[in-house]
Amino acid sequence: MRSLPSSISRSTHVSVNSDPFGSSVNQSYMTADFRLTTQKMIGPDKDTFLNEDNPFEDMMSRFDRAAELLDLEPGLYKILRSPEKQIIVSIPVLLDNGEIEVFTGYRVLHNTSRGPAKGGIRFDLNVTIDEVKALAAWMTWKCAVVDIPFGGSKGGVICDPSKLSNGELERLTRRYTAGIINTLGPDSDVPAPDVNTNERVMAWVMDTYSMHARHTVTAVVTGKPVEMGGSLGRREATGRGCMMVTRAALAHLGMPVAGATVAVQGFGNVGSVTADLLAKEGCRIVAIGDRGGAVYDAHGIDVTKAIAHAKKHKSLEGFEGGDRISNEELLTLDVDVLVPAALENVITRKNAPNIRARIICEGANGPTTAPADAILEEKGIFVIPDILANAGGVTVSYFEWVQDRGGYFWTEEVVNQRLGQIMERSFEAVLELSKRHKVNMRTAAYMLSISRVATVHRLRGIYA
Ligand code: NAD
Repeated sequence: MRSLPSSISRSTHVSVNSDPFGSSVNQSYMTADFRLTTQKMIGPDKDTFLNEDNPFEDMMSRFDRAAELLDLEPGLYKILRSPEKQIIVSIPVLLDNGEIEVFTGYRVLHNTSRGPAKGGIRFDLNVTIDEVKALAAWMTWKCAVVDIPFGGSKGGVICDPSKLSNGELERLTRRYTAGIINTLGPDSDVPAPDVNTNERVMAWVMDTYSMHARHTVTAVVTGKPVEMGGSLGRREATGRGCMMVTRAALAHLGMPVAGATVAVQGFGNVGSVTADLLAKEGCRIVAIGDRGGAVYDAHGIDVTKAIAHAKKHKSLEGFEGGDRISNEELLTLDVDVLVPAALENVITRKNAPNIRARIICEGANGPTTAPADAILEEKGIFVIPDILANAGGVTVSYFEWVQDRGGYFWTEEVVNQRLGQIMERSFEAVLELSKRHKVNMRTAAYMLSISRVATVHRLRGIYA
């Protein structure tokens, strides 16, 4: 493994602990101003946090079921249940009005046995350490289910980016990156965009890391702008992967793709691209929704118009291409395919009995809680689990990392074709396992990924 220059750890240490303003200015912050800012410290928004169960334990209950079916050795069970590393950083940011706000950021590495940790960075008020731990473990299983040589990690900062100026967001991103810089690196931990982060944020992460490394390191993040080492097709990759596995599920169930009705919750990167590509395949997108509300049109929504509206207004609020419905109504529509592509814990034990979709394609991470799983299974709903359904993003992130390291870039056609091979191969592998063990697709996906990670642990042994 390539080690970082010693200047990195020195400067990280300095940037986290020292006073950037000099001692005299610091004195004033340590008195009146500092107390004011601590009162206003940002914390999780409990009113909107849809936490039916602890997300880490929720994820682990699926892991437990698969581990039991695999008859996993107790030692390996303990290893795979424990995240390798958890980092918590305080992130002081100078706001435009001259005040200082201190944000909390996390980075969790769940498992790196198969390769460098890979996982997005999320900026959201509802970020918690348990959520980040769950998301990091999901990344381990996701990379293993599509068989790419990465482990799993995730990061998050508790903040509301819509309330931050561009400059504040940049300073927050750079200081967070500096705080976790010792874990980052193309060979150790490679972030990517997630909720409320994008190519712009990845460019700042890459630049901050590169300034510390004293040379340009493109492969330290994926989901970057194409002009600076990003991959063609990365932005659409998660939605494209969702489209591909939905198409495969429809074929498996003997349902035609043309005319299949689809409802999509979440109209950001994943939801809007999934809706667009499924519409291009001939599906009828009858409902879409986001934080700004949902719309329904039985004849099909004009997805291109909806994307243009969402781009201009930053949400679907005010979009007139259908009748207004609530987000809850969207989830329980009588459709062939439901794509939850917003946040976790939206299909719970409360609304699962009312879900009428034939197929659920989990674009988001963890949209279905463990208790809801059992209800959906009883109803005979075919669930394409998150670790398979939305793995297109990390697959093309892997392609981006490979292209950066090789310094040779592929055409979009090659990217999409290779993505198709991996998504279709993985869908078939999970389906085959689910038939063989008579389990649902989620349990089969966990069994496949856990067995792959466990095999590497057995081969590598325990370093003592
Ligand atoms: P995004 O920020 O681009 O979009 C999120 C969307 O969800 C927005 O349209 C937002 O308005 C909507 N939303 C938020 N809260 C909502 C609510 N309560 N009800 C309805 N809609 C709501 O994020 P994204 O990148 O599209 O990610 C969405 C999900 O997909 C997340 O769970 C993320 O972890 C997962 N995911 C993303 C990628 C990726 O490549 N971007 C890859 C794998 C998984």
